[in-house]
Amino acid sequence: MKIFTRTKEIEEYVLQLRLTGKTTGFVATMGALHQGHLSLIQQAQQANDVVICSIFVNPTQFNDPADLEKYPRPIVADIQKLEQAGCDVLFNPDVSEIYATHEQWHLNIGELEHLLEGKFRPGHYQGVTQVVYKLFNIVKPDTAYFGQKDYQQVMVISKMVQLLNMPVKLVMCPILREPDGLAMSSRNIHLTADDRLHSLILSKTLNWVKDNFNSDKIPEIKAAAEQLINNEPGVELEYFEIVDGDTLHPANQNTKNIVALVAARVGKTRLIDNVIISS
Ligand code: AMP
Repeated sequence: MKIFTRTKEIEEYVLQLRLTGKTTGFVATMGALHQGHLSLIQQAQQANDVVICSIFVNPTQFNDPADLEKYPRPIVADIQKLEQAGCDVLFNPDVSEIYATHEQWHLNIGELEHLLEGKFRPGHYQGVTQVVYKLFNIVKPDTAYFGQKDYQQVMVISKMVQLLNMPVKLVMCPILREPDGLAMSSRNIHLTADDRLHSLILSKTLNWVKDNFNSDKIPEIKAAAEQLINNEPGVELEYFEIVDGDTLHPANQNTKNIVALVAARVGKTRLIDNVIISS
């Protein structure tokens, strides 16, 4: 695997790839890689000549400095996992390779910015669009792969690509889970043994909602789901919403694409998860 830490160097490399007609698939990550990340790499491998992964813990998307501080950064193990997965290129820049000092950024992505995650993580999606815009400009991938795990993030990036006419195709990949249902996440290592048990209420509740879904009873189902989570010790619910998967507005009887999304603090760790109910 080729490893680049310098923007200029990877730019030159991808230019050569383009000149030789190679297609590129891109997976952007913040590292602490798990099987979920590697499934994106695999999907990229199936459709592209060259797969490029980035590991960059993007400071501008963290609204909580403590969260940024404690974000896991096991770069040696990550490189090993990428090598084993057969990833072709890793871009692992320092913050100074990506950002000038006191850089400003704002992209009007409309109400997506303030719904759900946006409400609980002010500024988060500005940081996400800022870094993904830069990474797309540097890596210039044909196709970029993102996880359904961050459903709203896929919508935000797709909005940015549309607004700025960026020449990249986006693919949303399914959520990978632990055998007991917990959605894989780099943050799961912060869960204590007790947290780990209590965290299962999130995927259990999402599955319950999917299995018992009735479009005439959305408010009742949402209330029951909230109650299930609120009754779980050590879990503090931020939101549980059943929405139109295209707008993130609350779903009703006529909604075709329905997604249930949840965010909660389990002990000190904030977790998100979702399930597509119909599409
Ligand atoms: P992150 O490193 O958390 O920024 O995630 C990098 C990419 O991996 C994003 O597109 C995530 O949505 C995706 N991802 C994270 N967790 C999972 C998972 N459990 N299954 C599938 N994709 C995931």
